[in-house]
Amino acid sequence: MANVKTHTFDAVIVGAGGAGLMAALYASKNANVAVLSKLYPTRSHTGAAQGGVGAALGNMEEDRWEWHAFDTVKGSDYLADQDAVDILCQDAIEVVIELEHMGLPFDRFPNGRISQRRFGGHTNNETKKPVMRACHAADRTGHMILQTLYQQCIKQKVNFFDEFHVVDLIRVGDSIRGVVAIEIATGEFHIFHSKAVMFATGGWGRCWQVTSNAHSLTGDGAAICLRRGIPMQDMEFFQFHPTGIFKLGILITEGVRGEGGVLINGKGERFMEKYAPTIKDLASRDVVSRAIYLEIQAGNGIDGKNYVHLDIRPETVNHYFAKDGETRRITREDIEAKLPDIADFTRTYLGVDPVKDPMPIQPTAHYAMGGIPTDVEGRVILDAAKKVLPGLYAAGEAACVSVHGANRLGTNSLTDLVVFGRRAGKDMAAFCQQANLLPLPANAADEVIAEFERIRHNQGSAKMFEVRNRMQTTMTEGVSVFRTKETVSASIAELKKLRVAYQDVGVQDKGKVFNSELLEAWELGCLLELAEVTAVSALTRQESRGGHARDDFPDRDDVNWLKHTLCHKVGEGEYKLDYKPVTLGRYEPKPRVY
Ligand SMILES: Cc1cc2nc3c(=O)[nH]c(=O)nc-3n(C[C@H](O)[C@H](O)[C@H](O)COP(=O)(O)OP(=O)(O)OC[C@H]3O[C@@H](n4cnc5c(N)ncnc54)[C@H](O)[C@@H]3O)c2cc1C
Repeated sequence: MANVKTHTFDAVIVGAGGAGLMAALYASKNANVAVLSKLYPTRSHTGAAQGGVGAALGNMEEDRWEWHAFDTVKGSDYLADQDAVDILCQDAIEVVIELEHMGLPFDRFPNGRISQRRFGGHTNNETKKPVMRACHAADRTGHMILQTLYQQCIKQKVNFFDEFHVVDLIRVGDSIRGVVAIEIATGEFHIFHSKAVMFATGGWGRCWQVTSNAHSLTGDGAAICLRRGIPMQDMEFFQFHPTGIFKLGILITEGVRGEGGVLINGKGERFMEKYAPTIKDLASRDVVSRAIYLEIQAGNGIDGKNYVHLDIRPETVNHYFAKDGETRRITREDIEAKLPDIADFTRTYLGVDPVKDPMPIQPTAHYAMGGIPTDVEGRVILDAAKKVLPGLYAAGEAACVSVHGANRLGTNSLTDLVVFGRRAGKDMAAFCQQANLLPLPANAADEVIAEFERIRHNQGSAKMFEVRNRMQTTMTEGVSVFRTKETVSASIAELKKLRVAYQDVGVQDKGKVFNSELLEAWELGCLLELAEVTAVSALTRQESRGGHARDDFPDRDDVNWLKHTLCHKVGEGEYKLDYKPVTLGRYEPKPRVY
């Protein structure tokens, strides 16, 4: 370990998005904490979150946390663990107010309370009509959460290691000793020796071709855990958000439909009336994405192409408000004030002014419902018996608590970050107070250093961009909104070839300083593994539930499949599947109707 610098902390948090920062804020009250982030913290992807954070504040109309809980369980297609959902929806109210007290500049209703808007699947359980539950700061809610939490962490003197890329977890049997990271500016390896480690590294939408996810969302934390013997839970459930900008995938928030926007097909029809007669365009995301696909398949795309329109023009919206018997109306000024970033994106990237023209959209790979399995304190679990691995934590999109089950409701990710980030941070500090710092094993960084040297000096002819493109095409063709045994099997066969090809990927930059090419090559390895786990999990689940729609098994099958998948890596390209019961509660599984 001659060239490896060692740092010692009680706890290391990997990731400085909403989950990592909330955890850091709480953990650092009672422990010496380091936050490591490959990005500068305020560039984390939480900053892209647009529409809102869900909490049943009931600021404009009646709402209750129990309604939020029911909507979340129904949205999850009954796969969410209901004990965790209760915590999510109860704690959400307190945490949103806590964020406001930290200084988060939420929009306000004229009565001075935090402004709330409608979002897909959030309803008044009695009238079944949409309810205003998404607390928002214009369409920049995630940006404001990130800035607020970062300021609080700085105030509390949390130790940040910005642009440190974590590449391995140091696990010895059933204990955790720290992580290995590369300092991006120098290329030097560092060991962070600690009693506890948390992964809050976000999602892996970059497995697909069209995605709302930034280039940095490569699933590093999940892949590192998989390699260190931690199973991945419910990976077959990956959410395709209905409204990505056509071909680009950049997200148009569901807040657009919350403000009254409607989806229109090539025949000029508001087609969601057919698929979700009660809440129409505000049905849950899996339902809307499937509807868009079916319309396109039936030749009802715009001009017969692979997209439909999202229309927020005041004349269209007000027409449908009147038709639905609603009294509210919107104006151009409302759109500019409530959706400024969306208006800006579509003008910049599409040359479309949403006040004057409809926006071309298609489903885009968006959110990982599955991930590193944890209990409600963020402690990572190893098996179906929920055995905890002491000292290892996960939170945010990388984790699977599971509150989103087979399909996440919009606004519930930000809620998940702050609610479970806070719980995990508290538990981590309590763990550190009673745990000893265990010694580092000899040569703790050697294995991963050898892997980086292999990539750096690889003479193979495979091109990184080609392997990545093939993976993204394969996942888009075979493991997308709809899938079958044939499409998923073909994807698995191709991914196996790509795993072999990856061994031949080399890099042109052999240097150390800011070698982003080398790090990207390593990230591609993470994506390839998570893609394979996703496909293997999807092949085995012979039913349709939430984000996993099997054309060959079109119905939900609660008798055989009301259970969580756990996928263990048992060798190179070899996986073993295991299943964990769903925690049920007040809400009995029923057919989903919107
Ligand atoms: C465009 C868009 C809009 C969205 N809008 C909403 C919304 O309105 N409401 C809602 O609830 N959800 C929304 N979501 C989802 C939500 O924003 C994300 O699920 C959530 O922000 C993820 O937060 P996180 O803290 O888990 O991870 P992220 O914010 O993605 O942060 C990950 C962190 O991990 C670090 N990291 C990753 N790998 C490594 C590594 N190897 N070493 C060191 N550091 C690493 C990164 O630097 C970063 O700091 C949206 C998502 C997108 C893409």
